[in-house]
Amino acid sequence: MKILAVGWNYADHCKELNPTKLPKHPVIFMKPETALLKDNKPFYLPNFSERIDYECELVVRISKMGKNISKKFASRYYDEIGLGIDFTARDLQNGFKAAGAPWEICKGFDNSAPVSEFISKEGYDINNLNFSLKKNGETVQQGNTSDMIFSVDEIIEYVSKFFTLKTGDIIFTGTPVGVGPVKINDHLEGFIEDKMMFHFDVL
Ligand code: MG
Repeated sequence: MKILAVGWNYADHCKELNPTKLPKHPVIFMKPETALLKDNKPFYLPNFSERIDYECELVVRISKMGKNISKKFASRYYDEIGLGIDFTARDLQNGFKAAGAPWEICKGFDNSAPVSEFISKEGYDINNLNFSLKKNGETVQQGNTSDMIFSVDEIIEYVSKFFTLKTGDIIFTGTPVGVGPVKINDHLEGFIEDKMMFHFDVL
């Protein structure tokens, strides 16, 4: 399976990282399968970074193979949603950005993609879904998918031009405003609407 992810998909978040421009196309990157962290296992801070940021994101799970999927039919290609963290080694990323170099290791390192269990999308409006992240009991991110620059269906249309999507692939759909660092002994809890999707410790 592969993990696709979208950067800069919420305008307010773009402004906090990169105030001058909004993307014209979805900004896509990948994480390897070894980035997955499941079952509320703790996240161990890696020793190569001084600044790991959380980015809480809605995640969709691809349910059938497809390529060149049009937006109109995109919703047929995912049937489950989940919540994840796109952990980012921000200090490394800032260096790569300054050098105009690829991001891969700051986004795709081991365990950089904690994800919840997936639940059926039935009963949820993918284009108007609230999700949030609490750090140590305090809400630090609160998003609604209606604020996405590119909708889930537009993301699928775009990425499937380049990558064949296969059953079990997952897509991180971007983070809202409020990203910030984690430190040892932090506790993270993620919610879709009022449903707790994950809870784990940073160690
Ligand atoms: Mg992200």
